[in-house]
Amino acid sequence: MVETLDIKVHKIGESKLENMDMNNIQFGKNYSDHMFIADYRDGEWSSFRIVPYGDLSLSPACTTLHYGQTIFEGLKAYKNVDGEVVVFRPDANARRMNVSAERMCIPELPEDIFLTGMRELIKLDHDWVPDQPNTSLYIRPFVFATDPFIGIRPADNFLFIIITSPVGAYYSEPVKVKVEEHYTRAVAGGTGYAKTAANYAAALYPAVQAQKDGYHQLIWTDGKDHKYIEESGTMNIMFVINDTLITAPIGDTILDGITRDSVITLAKDAGMNVEIRPISVEEVIGAIKKGELQEAFGCGTAATIAQIKSIGHDGIDYELPDTATRKYSNSFLQQLDDIKLGRVADPHNWIFKV
Ligand SMILES: *Cc1c(COP(=O)(O)O)cnc(C)c1O
Repeated sequence: MVETLDIKVHKIGESKLENMDMNNIQFGKNYSDHMFIADYRDGEWSSFRIVPYGDLSLSPACTTLHYGQTIFEGLKAYKNVDGEVVVFRPDANARRMNVSAERMCIPELPEDIFLTGMRELIKLDHDWVPDQPNTSLYIRPFVFATDPFIGIRPADNFLFIIITSPVGAYYSEPVKVKVEEHYTRAVAGGTGYAKTAANYAAALYPAVQAQKDGYHQLIWTDGKDHKYIEESGTMNIMFVINDTLITAPIGDTILDGITRDSVITLAKDAGMNVEIRPISVEEVIGAIKKGELQEAFGCGTAATIAQIKSIGHDGIDYELPDTATRKYSNSFLQQLDDIKLGRVADPHNWIFKV
């Protein structure tokens, strides 16, 4: 890694940390003192800088505002048991951002810029990494097109920015989900595998409809026949049926989650039977009826593991086994927490020390 990335640092006059109640953190409301910025112009990334967090000035004709040529990532920094600041698998996020970039005609961002920019930003704002149980510093890197031009074509100018936000204990209440068989999140040949704004904007309306009916989230099914299960909300989804972990394969309609990959790795390490294959709604409902479905959960950076307590399908809400009895997912969550906090060894080199 280039430790020598030339980053100009303009520090904030007075830290905002004193105004921040670290014992009562509200998600997404507070941002740390600084942000990292790089410009893409004349065909290259330049002007690396860390500046006080603050508003941007953009042309009203800015490409992103009209056509959504933008991508993002999401990851977390933790304070481990030795008081060190660590980040979970940021190299995987840096790689994935370039997968999204290619699909959206956004120039590749060298992984060094992502990782060194992130490291220097977090070093400077390390006091913003909370240390209460289950808290972390959420890291949001993103790239967006800034051309002041309303013609439709890939832009020539972009900004890469990293902002960070302390996040509180995530009370992941088990969720009630509904199988979505009308609206579609992603189609073959589309952008479902990219972390790009349009996917999330398009998912708002169907989610709001389901919320009116008392569900927290949707289970997205394939866009062609609505037969196969793809994701849940903005998480990957997994099932345990007859002691086998089952999850859909990554493709162009499913986002390649880093939590998903980590859970699969831990399951295989433990010698668990893992099947990565299409799983149909019919199979899941059949397994519930036969009493063979032991666990169902979403996985993603926000909650790590989000337990699913019931699944709505064809007007029936199927109750799933009590979350306290779910030995596999509870163990994955515990192991991931232990690795992040340095309570156990890190056999897969997932921890990046800031
Ligand atoms: C970010 C995201 C995930 C989870 O990815 P992680 O790397 O585990 O956080 C899953 N599905 C969608 C649609 C996402 O945007």
